Amino acid sequence: MSRIFSGIQPTGELHIGNWLGAVRNWVELQHQHDSIYCVVDLHAITGAASASTLATRTRDMAVSLLASGIDPARAILFVQSHVPEHARLQWLLTSVTPLGELERMTQFKDKAQRLESIPAGLLCYPILQAADILLYLADMVPVGEDQVQHLELTREIARRWNAEYAPGVGYLPEPQPLLTPARRILGLDGQAKMSKSLGNTVGLLEAPEAIWQKLRPAMTDPARKTRKDPGNPDVCNIYTLHQHFSPEPVQQEVAAQCRSAGWGCLDCKKVLAGNMESHLGPIRGRAAELRQSPGQVEDLLATGAARASRIARETIAEVEHRMGFLPAKGD
Ligand code: SF4
Repeated sequence: MSRIFSGIQPTGELHIGNWLGAVRNWVELQHQHDSIYCVVDLHAITGAASASTLATRTRDMAVSLLASGIDPARAILFVQSHVPEHARLQWLLTSVTPLGELERMTQFKDKAQRLESIPAGLLCYPILQAADILLYLADMVPVGEDQVQHLELTREIARRWNAEYAPGVGYLPEPQPLLTPARRILGLDGQAKMSKSLGNTVGLLEAPEAIWQKLRPAMTDPARKTRKDPGNPDVCNIYTLHQHFSPEPVQQEVAAQCRSAGWGCLDCKKVLAGNMESHLGPIRGRAAELRQSPGQVEDLLATGAARASRIARETIAEVEHRMGFLPAKGD
């Protein structure tokens, strides 16, 4: 069975953009692949410092993932910093990573131009990503299109390391992208990708009333200035959300009622809110149960870290052996 690895930043609770764009797919993939999922808290410290909330955001993300259906009996779910081999392999891989490739990364250039002082961690972020994946000798990585460049660098790092330390035979695999079927999910402003920093999100665990307060004013087809104006669902983000949450016959009804101005946008949003609740209600219920027993979540993460560590230690031992390090006594 092929192995996949994917990580998610500890941003706290998931929003529906993360869920539709990645996590729902992870839940499917755990039935088809040997799946390793990680809350990447070491990556999180390359952003703005927020030590007082990091642990809570990490735990909340784990709750969201478990409530979404990541099954710790199938997939390995753990927190990155609980497996120290991630940072150790990153350092080893810096020796074969060209500086120019790091400086060419689009995400680095975007973020760096907004900063007065650029932390080295921001530059080295893709090496840690490479270490995350290569530590588990993953064959494939579920990625969105914005991550393809980073994965290509991982493949390049694996190639260079193999050429230097495992010539002719290779040891680190060059992982393939497994492109996520769910496309880019726009925020409720209908303009930009759904993102917490833009304040245009719907939380996966938000109460139905809170979701409705966000849906009511959400952007629709601007051509519908009055209730009587017909609209075009193809340019409306609410319709896109119907395509993710509403059954096919309802989607057809929405499109027809929009084009004929049979429904107003509020009618349309009410139908969407109901269908969102059918998906999100059970997830919210599972999250509430998990929150009542935080010890259980921590135990599940500890078990996940122990399982991940077993693989990680074997890889590090082989990598260090091939790189010529003197083994510590007892290893
Ligand atoms: S009726 Fe629905 S699909 Fe049409 S513009 Fe309004 S919200 Fe969008």
